Amino acid sequence: MGTLSFASGPSLLPPEVLDLVAHDIKDCRGSGRSVLALPFTSVEFTSILHGAEQSIRQLLQIPDGYHVLFMQGGASSHFSLLPMNLLGNRLQADYVESGLWARRAIAAAKSWCAVNVSARGDRSAMPGPGEWIISRQSAYCHITTNETAEGLQLHDWPQEIGVPLVADMTADLFTRPVPIERFGLVYASAQKNLGAAGLTVVIIREDLLDRAHKGTPPPLNYTRQAAAGSKVNTPPTMAVAVAAHMLSWVARQGGLAAMEARNWRKSEMLYAAIARSRFYSCAAAPQHRSMLNVCFHLPSKELDQLFLHEAESHGLLDLCGHVEIGGIRASLYNAVPQEAVERLVAFMADFETRRG
Ligand SMILES: *Cc1c(COP(=O)(O)O)cnc(C)c1O
Repeated sequence: MGTLSFASGPSLLPPEVLDLVAHDIKDCRGSGRSVLALPFTSVEFTSILHGAEQSIRQLLQIPDGYHVLFMQGGASSHFSLLPMNLLGNRLQADYVESGLWARRAIAAAKSWCAVNVSARGDRSAMPGPGEWIISRQSAYCHITTNETAEGLQLHDWPQEIGVPLVADMTADLFTRPVPIERFGLVYASAQKNLGAAGLTVVIIREDLLDRAHKGTPPPLNYTRQAAAGSKVNTPPTMAVAVAAHMLSWVARQGGLAAMEARNWRKSEMLYAAIARSRFYSCAAAPQHRSMLNVCFHLPSKELDQLFLHEAESHGLLDLCGHVEIGGIRASLYNAVPQEAVERLVAFMADFETRRG
């Protein structure tokens, strides 16, 4: 019985993607060079980057007028880069305070502008578009489509909201179809559904360029990166190569609608197991639950700890909840197989019989 990881990031990669990456490390695309030693200006890397961009455009059906940027820094750096790049001459931005990650984005933005909190959620619910009160003075409105720590997800896409809509999709980009045309900017770190840490994908509508603060470092300036094809300086080449393989893998699974169906099958199996039991419970209300992070707890903190300990000895790893939330969290990103959930559900039933 092998081990299975439910890590919230960096998370699993499919075995066939790992094989391709292993091959690239020795000899990338017949170049006679390791992907780790491929100049970013080379024909081979240019073709990898271009292929990754084309896959992103096709999978998400991105309309004309958007740039796809391959950047560094992780979502947390972009929490500061968003106001630096998007405020222009505005002094305020709107934020939906849906959970832990939204709070971190708000804290970073406050160094740059006034923040108007459009709506506030709690551990059980994420505020939907109908509850957002947005100021027209704002340069943009920022949302977090999946709150990874609490296990909440936005399930209704907003209509026109009057200001550019900006979304942190770090936990759920490439797990389901997204109407990109409703967004001014979407960003995601790669280590959850798109491969390796070190890459942040930014999809930005053209009219949001040319607003950056003049002190923005060029590699972190969306306008400069758009003009330079993400090559202002050395991009995270290895992480881009991994993402290119992951994107092709997602396309081979049938694309984003097929990915969404698979991902829901996994999480619904786990939510159903929790619903059948009086031992396990989930704070998130059913209509707000995340397809990707199933957060639950046992009747006491001591039992949570015992559960985590025994799960680990059964090869079920990285099930610990976010440090600020506690409890158990099973992250079921794109590469996590159905079999992993089946094993977890079987272990949960056994644990409940013995300890419940
Ligand atoms: C994981 C996560 C982040 C943090 O990403 P980093 O790349 O570590 O900065 C931010 N937002 C959301 C929604 C996440 O799930």
